[in-house]
Amino acid sequence: MQRVSVDPAKCQGHARCLAFAPDVFDFDDEGYAFVPDDRAQFEELPNPVKLAVANCPERAISVSEVAE
Ligand code: SF4
Repeated sequence: MQRVSVDPAKCQGHARCLAFAPDVFDFDDEGYAFVPDDRAQFEELPNPVKLAVANCPERAISVSEVAE
């Protein structure tokens, strides 16, 4: 399983991630991205999430392997 998360210390709120994968990323009241727990884990990372990772100007999105 792969888990997607946004580092709040790096995110600058450009919203590119939201443009690529609106079903995964969400924004808090201050305009910074996060991934709700129930949308964060994938057997295989969907292409829109890969694009979001590749296009985040702050490299704030990370993908980690988690045990099933
Ligand atoms: S693209 Fe990156 S910096 Fe911009 S809102 Fe998304 S996670 Fe934050």
